Amino acid sequence: MNEQNKYEWGEGVFTLLSWFKKDKVKNARVLVVGAGALGNEVVKDLALFGVGHIYVVDFDQIELSNLTRSVLFREEDAYNHSYKAEIVAKRAMEINPQIKVIPFVGNLLSEVGFGIYRMVDVVIGCLDSRIARYQLNRLCMRAGKSWVDGSIENMTGSVQVYTPGVACYECGLSRDEFNHIMVRTGCADVVNLQSSAGRVATTPISASIIGAIEVQEAMKIIHLDTEAASQFKTLQGKLLHYEGLTNSTNVYKFASWKNTCTAHERWEPVIEAPNLSATQTVRETLSALKSLLQVENVEINMCNNKFVDVVVSDKPEKEFKVMVPDSQLDRYMSANDELRKLRYITTFHKSFFENIDAEFPYQDLTLQQIGIPLFDVLQVSTEKGLFHVELDADAHLFL
Ligand SMILES: [Zn+2]
Repeated sequence: MNEQNKYEWGEGVFTLLSWFKKDKVKNARVLVVGAGALGNEVVKDLALFGVGHIYVVDFDQIELSNLTRSVLFREEDAYNHSYKAEIVAKRAMEINPQIKVIPFVGNLLSEVGFGIYRMVDVVIGCLDSRIARYQLNRLCMRAGKSWVDGSIENMTGSVQVYTPGVACYECGLSRDEFNHIMVRTGCADVVNLQSSAGRVATTPISASIIGAIEVQEAMKIIHLDTEAASQFKTLQGKLLHYEGLTNSTNVYKFASWKNTCTAHERWEPVIEAPNLSATQTVRETLSALKSLLQVENVEINMCNNKFVDVVVSDKPEKEFKVMVPDSQLDRYMSANDELRKLRYITTFHKSFFENIDAEFPYQDLTLQQIGIPLFDVLQVSTEKGLFHVELDADAHLFL
């Protein structure tokens, strides 16, 4: 046996910590959403702790300006236009070859299967927009999972933990903040040109401090059912605020849970269907669902995405057959010369499908092609009511 195989990560180091449970950490699964400054710090710390499975989501590519506060990025990554999630995953596994880090290049809502949210112990948000936090909160509430939220600006930062039944991000939003999100996410049939979020000035210091506190909270949540947990004070329902200018750190109560909030809808029970996969066609899936659920009528409700078959421009009046999930429409239009030029002089409207049943005209497309990711959970309407069905034939890809 060579040196490498004998050494088990953390042996003789973390095992000296009274609260640290090696097997718990090794078997833990953590989803990190956002691979920018905070995401770099968070994934680095999770890797150092030896968290066995880390999933990293980000749609963005690396730019030179990211290098000042992203410990896992290198200059060559910016020149190669590499994806943040892929590089973070690769470098974290260089730090700790005994863990597995799986990247998702895409949107947290429409391009990460809900099975991932159900499978993890805790979710860590490393986000810089309210809309993304709003979406992530809804997914975590739906899955019944706690999520740790961090934010940084200049020399300050804050961490909050949202847990179903205790605290919810949406419940804590002011009316103005909520309306702003609704305006940005609404407008069902008008093509929404994504404007990139304003760049916030941050420092490598606030990213390390806030990222570290986020991971520490995640470690507490991973150990929550152990004896040691009685020593922990967690940030569940609280807000930690760090002010670097004056070196002050304060913890405030911040539990907001309103019974009228629509974000609290939990998806359960979920039927785990071992033979269903997002690589199957709509036709195959509808038929399999009928026999699985013992029903006559099935309709898949696309809760997180839509399928766009056509976009129409006003001036000149013209139809374009696009055939892409809504989440990819912006990318598709940017890559198409005619559409890219037209988008500055016209308004586009789109024709889309969000309820998929026997009437859907493109039955031979796969679920992935219409915008349902691998290992997702389908919401299915039938004459017997609503069901949630997980595409479990895809699960092995993420274990
Ligand atoms: Zn709420």
